Amino acid sequence: MEEPNRELFEKVVKVAQARGFVFNASSIYGGLRSSYDYGPLGVLLKNNISKYWWKDIDNDSEIAIFPVDTAIIQSSEVWKASGHIAEFSDPMVDHKPTGERYRADQVPDDINKEDLTEPRQFNLMFETSIGPVQNENSTVYLRPETAQGIFVNFENVLRTMRAKIPFGIANIGKSFRNEITPGQFIFRTREFEQMEIEFFCKEEDENKWFDYWVKKRMEWYRSIGIPDTSLRLREHSDNELAHYASKTVDIEFLYPWGWGELEGIANRGTFDLSSHEKASGKDMSYFDPETNEKITPTVIEPAGGLTRTLFALLCSCYDEEEVNDTTRTLFRFDFNIAPIQIGILPLSKKDELIEVSNNIKNILQENYRTEIDVTQSIGKRYRRQDEIGTPYCITVDFDSLDDNSVTIRSRDSMEQERILITALPGFFSDL
Ligand code: ATP
Repeated sequence: MEEPNRELFEKVVKVAQARGFVFNASSIYGGLRSSYDYGPLGVLLKNNISKYWWKDIDNDSEIAIFPVDTAIIQSSEVWKASGHIAEFSDPMVDHKPTGERYRADQVPDDINKEDLTEPRQFNLMFETSIGPVQNENSTVYLRPETAQGIFVNFENVLRTMRAKIPFGIANIGKSFRNEITPGQFIFRTREFEQMEIEFFCKEEDENKWFDYWVKKRMEWYRSIGIPDTSLRLREHSDNELAHYASKTVDIEFLYPWGWGELEGIANRGTFDLSSHEKASGKDMSYFDPETNEKITPTVIEPAGGLTRTLFALLCSCYDEEEVNDTTRTLFRFDFNIAPIQIGILPLSKKDELIEVSNNIKNILQENYRTEIDVTQSIGKRYRRQDEIGTPYCITVDFDSLDDNSVTIRSRDSMEQERILITALPGFFSDL
């Protein structure tokens, strides 16, 4: 089993910030604690992760998964019915000497426990108001999960898509939690992106589908380049289970500080649909044409974090190696996931070489994410491309003008190979 690697944390954060994956939010004003902006490479990486998430669930011929994109601000009735207004809270304690607030189960070791207040419940939802007049009826909340937006659209999707169970509804989007103890870079932030599926099935099939989703989601994390040795499953014990769940299994990742949640897969039973049916008075049942019976479907929920997956991927792919007495830093992203897949590096800024480089970009950019990089020496450019995890670089030199060939350098092996420009599409499509 792998061991946590604390040093990795600072290294990953440093490269991620220096190379344009993630920036501190409001940095010109000194930053806002635990708020981050995603830079150009971070956005590309995030888009690729979400693309592969959609692709994976869309690829299944056995079941239909319908996408939705629901509002961040919903009626407050939604959060009343779901239990979030009453119960979405963490016990928190205040450190009397400094006024710092901590989640009761996350107080740093170096703090004297006698200096802490008794735990109090603290609701994690961000409250705001809509409309020109502020009163109790104008209070709304930023959603703390995408799940409820899916449940309140169950009937809409059922009707408009003529869905038959088992089927799922999926949503990727921002969620907000006023976390008492955010931290560890983008692992836990107050604003983050979730990737959630609510999967509706018959109660008698709940175990089959639960196991199906655990397996499928584990395979997906491996498929985007997270090694098996950094993944494990952990089932919640009875006293840890949320009140609405009969079973929950977390997919955990080995973060630089130890194992922690990457995704939770829960059997939520009929809790959500029944709660919304009761509170709204609207029928949330499913008519089963096989038995001619109305049922409330059971829900299996795979709930993952997009931004947390991005962090896990950065940690998984970071690597260093000694080359000619210097340390080479790289992200070993899979070809499909890498923000930039092919760097095109003309050896000089001379017009002829730029023209050949532009032609190569034109040939490749329809199918691949490419970038022409002309700044600095070729050695520094290789270094940068390694650091941003570009799997292949194409170098255009003066010989290219005569032999119509270029040099391809592999990030991982650092081997170089001369190849005809016309053979480039074939080279990359064979990968
Ligand atoms: P944790 O125990 O880490 O607080 P959770 O069990 O409250 O997480 P869920 O409500 O199950 O999390 O949310 C599903 C997923 O959303 C998590 O597995 C995680 O990937 C992501 N997530 C939850 N809270 C945050 C956060 N504050 N920052 C980043 N990602 C988050």
